[in-house]
Amino acid sequence: MTRLIFLGPPGAGKGTQAQQVAELAGIPHISTGEILREAIAEQSDLGQRASSYVDKGELVPDDLILDLIKDRLSHEDTQSGWILDGFPRNVNQAQFLDQLLAQLNQQADIAVNFAVTDQVLIERMLARGRKDDNEETITRRLQVYREQTAPVLHYYEERNELQSVDGDRSVEEVTVSLRAFLNL
Ligand code: ADP
Repeated sequence: MTRLIFLGPPGAGKGTQAQQVAELAGIPHISTGEILREAIAEQSDLGQRASSYVDKGELVPDDLILDLIKDRLSHEDTQSGWILDGFPRNVNQAQFLDQLLAQLNQQADIAVNFAVTDQVLIERMLARGRKDDNEETITRRLQVYREQTAPVLHYYEERNELQSVDGDRSVEEVTVSLRAFLNL
């Protein structure tokens, strides 16, 4: 399977696993968080508009993200597949993705939920030390996740397109179980 949506709370390890799987499968790893951090570092128009939201742990407005995803998934390197990491992050984004994929004549194979307890998430984020990994922002990101992103799990679950992985294990162990059910 090579059209994958990685879901899960901040700090769940989606990005690390996405990088590994992308390399193995030879497909692009598309992380909206990474794209936004690069834009912020470059102080591009997108970066300037996104930075205050990212710093506070809020989602950036959908209008900043949707065009970006449309452009990225229209790029020719996505023909043999892709991993979306950090998108969709609310139900509106999930609906947009469905429409976009229909236009592109594509379909996601599966959404993967990385399940990790809050305590482990907080420990991991504090150890990571990114600018938005301070206690106040972490608390807000977990809250935003519960309110806006958790409903996206149900969105895919109702269609039988959700697979959960126990993310509370070592990086290597999680990769082994991912590879098993992705057939990679
Ligand atoms: P994490 O998985 O640790 O939350 P990300 O790198 O995925 O980190 O995201 C960092 C921040 O970027 C988020 O807190 C949010 O502000 C912003 N962001 C990333 N993806 C999206 C998205 N799809 N919609 C809105 N905001 C986003």
